[in-house]
Amino acid sequence: MRTCSFCGRNLNQVFRMIQSPVAEDIHLCDMCADLAYAVMHDKINNRSHARQRKAMKQFWNPNVSEQQKKPTLEQPFTMTPSEIHRHLDKYIIGQEQAKKILSVAIYNHNKRLNDKTGLIKKSNILLAGPSGCGKTLLVKTLAKILNVPFVIVDATTLTEAGYVGKDVDLCLQRLLDVANGNLRLAKRGIVYIDEFDKIARKGESRSITRDVSGEGVQQALLKLIEGCEVSVPITGRARYKEDDDNSVLFDTSNVLFICGGAFEGIFDNPGEKKQPMGFQSAITSNKNPTPQLLNQQSLIHYGLIPELIGRLPVRCSLDELSENDLIRILTEPEDAITKEYHLLFKKDGIKLVFEEESLREVAKIALEQKTGARGLRSILEDVMLDVMYDLPDRENISKCVITKESISTKSPLIIPKRQRKKSSATATT
Ligand code: ADP
Repeated sequence: MRTCSFCGRNLNQVFRMIQSPVAEDIHLCDMCADLAYAVMHDKINNRSHARQRKAMKQFWNPNVSEQQKKPTLEQPFTMTPSEIHRHLDKYIIGQEQAKKILSVAIYNHNKRLNDKTGLIKKSNILLAGPSGCGKTLLVKTLAKILNVPFVIVDATTLTEAGYVGKDVDLCLQRLLDVANGNLRLAKRGIVYIDEFDKIARKGESRSITRDVSGEGVQQALLKLIEGCEVSVPITGRARYKEDDDNSVLFDTSNVLFICGGAFEGIFDNPGEKKQPMGFQSAITSNKNPTPQLLNQQSLIHYGLIPELIGRLPVRCSLDELSENDLIRILTEPEDAITKEYHLLFKKDGIKLVFEEESLREVAKIALEQKTGARGLRSILEDVMLDVMYDLPDRENISKCVITKESISTKSPLIIPKRQRKKSSATATT
């Protein structure tokens, strides 16, 4: 049935449906057409309609400026898997296998979005890896590459319909909101379901305590992930009129679902009766767990229902980050933390130097805390706080050197301008 590409209403809900003059598959209901006319002729000027005007102009006028076009459907995606991989390399350290699998998955997903035969099946993705190893970062970066709306949902907050908590349809509502109410765009979005392992059902063979409603949530997610039409209430940014309590029909067939979790103990031998020792133990016993290990059987044993596993055909395990990876994360990515600090100090006219040993020390602490790369920033923030508070008030400071000792004492070496020549020769930026 024809639906309005802007608000999602179908022919039963509206009087008339108009075909877009620029694309055959785009239709506009009479209400949106009226609104479009008013917007295009600047008949609606008040502030409350500003978003509506912007979204409508973007939809109706293909000649909008580049800045207004983000994200839109008009920009063709032309990257090959190796180009996607190279782009990921700019922001993500290591995780080579995951990058390769995801690059191919995204490349094929894009082909599917533009395919009319229906032969290319949806490739939802399952990512398993310890906390702070880059799962969310990978997905976020992919969403940017594809230039599609992207939302992150915490699986632990979801409940099956009828129970207290957030309904699984919430992710679609948020996707529509992020797409500024543009249903066509929202339908091509990416939903990342974080903490997916926490909705594993409680099985007798598992000794880790689980959320008892887990299986219900898995059942509720089944259709959504595979592709179905869901009635989604229009709220937030996607809401056109304050008195409008209508919902739109959201087809999830082209929404890419990526589910990620730590899946602690998943690589433990199912036959062994010993307590699961955590993800890290699996990594130690098998330094490079291959994606095949994330097979149907181990996932069923972990507590996912087979139907749901079947709907997540692309699976991939991410490696735990090593000390060297963490050091590289501190310095190499385009948005690396140390680059940020360098810039902050430079703006005060001070040269900031991180000695290599200081970075190693930070990496060691992050490893001890088992926070992965997520802990790096807070460790450095702690070290830098006092000096960032004091230095702007002091004059004639040439350099601030973060030594290995500074990490524990939290007092970096401050070199005044006149002592510049005496500065440590071993310091490296
Ligand atoms: P999780 O695996 O728990 O989803 P995140 O992707 O949220 O971890 O990582 C938290 C933060 O740690 C990221 O925002 C990023 O700054 C950093 N990080 C984690 N892994 C990597 C990595 N492989 N390369 C670069 N930065 C990383």
